[in-house]
Amino acid sequence: MNKLEKITRPNILSLVPYSSARNEFKGNADIFLDANENPFGELNRYPDPMQVDLKRALAAELNVSSNNVFIGNGSDEVIDLLFRIFCTPGVDNVITLNPSYGMYSVSAAINDVLIQRIPLDSDYNVQVDKLLNAVNPNTKIIFLCSPNNPTGNIIPLEDIELICSRFNGIVVVDEAYIDFSDSPSAVGLLGKNWNLVVSQTFSKARGLAAARVGYAIGSEELINLMNKVKPPYNVSKLNQKVALEALLNKEKYNQEVELIKTQRRQVKDELAQLPIVNKIFPSEANFILVKFEDGPKVYNWLLEKNIVVRNRDNEIKNTIRITIGSKEENEKLINELKNYCYEKESTIY
Ligand SMILES: *Cc1c(COP(=O)(O)O)cnc(C)c1O
Repeated sequence: MNKLEKITRPNILSLVPYSSARNEFKGNADIFLDANENPFGELNRYPDPMQVDLKRALAAELNVSSNNVFIGNGSDEVIDLLFRIFCTPGVDNVITLNPSYGMYSVSAAINDVLIQRIPLDSDYNVQVDKLLNAVNPNTKIIFLCSPNNPTGNIIPLEDIELICSRFNGIVVVDEAYIDFSDSPSAVGLLGKNWNLVVSQTFSKARGLAAARVGYAIGSEELINLMNKVKPPYNVSKLNQKVALEALLNKEKYNQEVELIKTQRRQVKDELAQLPIVNKIFPSEANFILVKFEDGPKVYNWLLEKNIVVRNRDNEIKNTIRITIGSKEENEKLINELKNYCYEKESTIY
């Protein structure tokens, strides 16, 4: 057994995947009487189960082979599949950082898998030794998020490589926000690290949160496992189409990412001038984590003005995660925060 097989659940290794009609058929045909579809309509046929066109375009974009790409119903499906492939419920455990993206804990709970959350240090860097010390023989996956949600900082590639080399399980690097960062993606480390999986999404920079398309990049062997376990038609024809169009429209993508990065600088500068702001954490994502004098109060104030931000007070006291919106939206936000400051001053004196 090789390293990957050793950590794969035996039932998954021996799984004979569902073979769909469209999977079995190869070649040219005019008449399809193989999948019990309705012969009439526009969306009457099952979609390509292997998303060949979208994968080819993604692979070209990422400079990998199509065999290294898995496409899922959002990155949330990627996360869940990894749990189901590697973690035996009630037995195995995973490790993540604290604070980080909430879905790792939720997916762990759904799969009855224990999750150990290793705190980031005061600058939100990974405490690599602490993280590696938490590994035990039943630890199957380490989830890293870079740039991290909600802190916004990147995990250095050296840390990721060190963790990959010292850990005999799967290392997931969730790069949902990598488009907004000036640092390179961990995709470049894939050739040297058998256990690395990078996940990205169409939900953020590509502007398709409503479509639900995420993807994982990893070794061909690991991608094969994911293909085996996924529901046969997990990405709809409509979603494959819009994702491919978004991928090919590079001009729109580049323009929007640049606009958001410019606005991120603008919002940061404006926030820095407000007396109620205690700290603005450096961000390489399309959001900024901000520490206020009284976070929950600011949160409620904005809510009263019909502006929803993300209250992170539970994770880090008095913090709010603010998404970078359009110029107009950001200006409204800053204006309401200024109003809050005036109001506050006039109640004190
Ligand atoms: C938003 C986000 C995602 C995206 O999830 P999808 O299911 O692809 O929409 C993934 N990871 C993190 C850390 C996120 O913040």
